[in-house]
Amino acid sequence: MKRFILFGAPGSGKGTMGEFIQRDFGYVRISTGDILRSEIEQGSADGRRARGHMESGGLVPDELVIELVRRRLGRDDLDGGYVMDGYPRTLAQAEALSAVPCASEKAIAIDVEEDEAVDRLLSRLTCRECGAIYNLRNKPPRTAGVCDLCGGVVERRSDDNEQAVRQRFRVYAERTLPVIGYYDLKGVLSRVDGRGAAAPVYGRVKELIS
Ligand SMILES: [Zn+2]
Repeated sequence: MKRFILFGAPGSGKGTMGEFIQRDFGYVRISTGDILRSEIEQGSADGRRARGHMESGGLVPDELVIELVRRRLGRDDLDGGYVMDGYPRTLAQAEALSAVPCASEKAIAIDVEEDEAVDRLLSRLTCRECGAIYNLRNKPPRTAGVCDLCGGVVERRSDDNEQAVRQRFRVYAERTLPVIGYYDLKGVLSRVDGRGAAAPVYGRVKELIS
């Protein structure tokens, strides 16, 4: 099976790219953020462990994330290929993933300047009910503060303030850039210019997917 790995700082549009790839190519998007949130909602022991780390803004321990991903990759819906979003974030996670066989592997890093990423995140609004994403500048809800889809309250995520966003950007630079270097050394890394609107960025990403 084919494996794609998306890298990108907070605000790079990585999650959106993963969704587009799933829609157009049928590769299953595996988001560790979604897996962790789902464990937390179910109230599982793993979810309870992850929660404290996530709430304090730290990274969830490698052994826990690696185990959750190992379980996800063991399911039988991935024969057509899959896209990793948010994993691996550390070298230990990258090595664990490399131990999982695949027919081909491609890593794609979406590059975006810090100021543009911060600006995007600060104008991003999310529906509290259904999770729909809006943007104050180029995709505002039809009625201010109200979700077009479900009528729920649309607001900025509490962790999307400038200080927190810049902190997340720094954590990404420190922890994840070495992981990108790992895939560069492996010879499977491509870099994509992530500046500008989602559609042209996706056009560049799409050329790398087959
Ligand atoms: Zn909604």
